[in-house]
Amino acid sequence: MPELPEVEVVRRGLVSWVRGRTITSVDVLDPRSLRRHALGPEDFAGNLEGARVLDVVRRGKFLWMPLADTPAPSGGRVLSGQQVPDAEPVPAVALMAHLGMSGQLLMQDPGVPDEKHLKVRLRLSPAEGMPEQLRFVDQRIFGGLFLTSLVPTDDGGPGGLAETPLPLIAEEASHIARDPLDPWFSFDAFYRRLRARKTGLKRALLDQGLVSGIGNIYADEALWKAQLHFARPTDTLRRADAQRVLDAAREVMTDALTAGGTSFDSLYVNVNGASGYFDRSLNAYGREGRECKRCAAAGRVSLLKREQFMNRSSYTCPVCQPRPRNGRW
Ligand SMILES: [Zn+2]
Repeated sequence: MPELPEVEVVRRGLVSWVRGRTITSVDVLDPRSLRRHALGPEDFAGNLEGARVLDVVRRGKFLWMPLADTPAPSGGRVLSGQQVPDAEPVPAVALMAHLGMSGQLLMQDPGVPDEKHLKVRLRLSPAEGMPEQLRFVDQRIFGGLFLTSLVPTDDGGPGGLAETPLPLIAEEASHIARDPLDPWFSFDAFYRRLRARKTGLKRALLDQGLVSGIGNIYADEALWKAQLHFARPTDTLRRADAQRVLDAAREVMTDALTAGGTSFDSLYVNVNGASGYFDRSLNAYGREGRECKRCAAAGRVSLLKREQFMNRSSYTCPVCQPRPRNGRW
């Protein structure tokens, strides 16, 4: 499953290739990849053809492209002797890309043979030095493309990370909270709601309605870094603890983004479920039975433990992330 940093890598890569270009035609090679578009492939293609991609926006792991159905504004016009740029139209619809387990968005030239698992092809208006096609490739078909409405955001802030932020969000993503990399993320609101939740800390970190974009890997990494146990009751969490774990989540995701940065200018806007580029820097996740690096640095030997958690695994150091006991802190 791609995590937030991988989706952000896709966003940054994709935006430089597609922003401002018009979708000229659509080939649906496998309608299963459009099953989230209730009105079917013809409606999907009919709405996309002629639409211009205004931006690529991300909140949590949701990624969408606001669309305009009018041509690009001209250079502007002269009004009372002053040059006034034409305003971009306010988009009402967005193309949503759900990457699922194995979805990839690839920019390709027309001469490149179709990928084995190519599902949808969008042809884009010509642009100097840029590939013509945006291809959606998905081996396991858990992902897909669909059109969604844009609705105003709850707090009036931008819908998510974007090049030209608008106070609009894809309806599909409107139920999720802002993610830790979003400059509009409010720690105060997060902390207030976290305390009220009366649940375990990791469960709260994975709750997309509280904070979005933290998956299982980053939750374990953030908890390790903040030296907090996953079962720590949120209503006992001090402000400083909450700040520490959130900062840790932001740091591990930013590190992964930096490590993935080399793929930004690649022709392939690529995302793989278990991308390897940040594996080397993991401190907790997947390290069962291996030495805790922090304990080792302090001259102690402690082996990381794996425990079952919400049908998944949690990795913790029993020494520097002790399990809560007797409700005492
Ligand atoms: Zn440790």
